[in-house]
Amino acid sequence: MSLRIGVDLGGTKIEAVAIAADGAERFRRRIDAPRGDYAASIAAIVSLVREIERFSGERPPVGVGIPGVISPATGVVKNANSTWLNGRPLHADLERALERPVRLANDANCFTLSEATDGAGAGAQVVFGVILGTGTGGGIVVGGRVLAGANAIAGEWGHNPLPWPDASELPGAPCYCGRRGCIETFLSGAGLQAARGRSDLTAREIADAAGQSDPAAMAALETYTKRLAKSLATIVNTIDPDVIVLGGGLSNIASLYTQVPRLWSAWIFSDRVDTRLARARHGDASGVRGAAWLNP
Ligand SMILES: [Zn+2]
Repeated sequence: MSLRIGVDLGGTKIEAVAIAADGAERFRRRIDAPRGDYAASIAAIVSLVREIERFSGERPPVGVGIPGVISPATGVVKNANSTWLNGRPLHADLERALERPVRLANDANCFTLSEATDGAGAGAQVVFGVILGTGTGGGIVVGGRVLAGANAIAGEWGHNPLPWPDASELPGAPCYCGRRGCIETFLSGAGLQAARGRSDLTAREIADAAGQSDPAAMAALETYTKRLAKSLATIVNTIDPDVIVLGGGLSNIASLYTQVPRLWSAWIFSDRVDTRLARARHGDASGVRGAAWLNP
């Protein structure tokens, strides 16, 4: 069958898939993540891989998407919001436990690779992937390969400041990274809640209310849309991608795909903008599929 195994190591769930060369899924399993327990996290990944091996009779290559990244300088995990992974030699420990080379990448990079391989960015030379959810992650794929970067943070634009802020956007809310006014604080689900001024409503409820012409929700979504447009304009001005693919819970807001391209040319340094803005084709499955595609 010549399968590839992808594992998505999340903060609450660990998911594994086995996909064939044509992208068809032959196996999928999702389990609860052993939160706070590093050794148990490794053991859980090993047991999923063994299960696929028994099922397939093969010993497929393994790719793993992780929160945070492996520091190129030290070989240990950094920037993971699943903090029990930070400072751990996850790559070396997984290769030892699985007795084979393993490819690791940040979860936003895996998302982008999935969409660039056989999703909304298929066939494009440069793809920028964005996850709009609990946080705001980004990844870059060029020519079908993840651009990791010298510090393994390429695409992490969520911790740049919101560009072209107006008075109401300064100094911005505190971010867990230690700064204020990061793009993530505006474009995450909490950012939409803050724009609405109602932390008791979910981002989805606010988007649904806007779709039913609730004035306050419509105003909040308009503010959110403008912030997304100017934030993405800095990406177009920097790497000029062929396509920008949105994933995560807020990517389900259909109006973004018409309104953001209507607005973003105000901040893009070009007489016309041919960059496409597209919704992820594989949805929530893109993280784990992209992990599988880490093996060429
Ligand atoms: Zn930040």
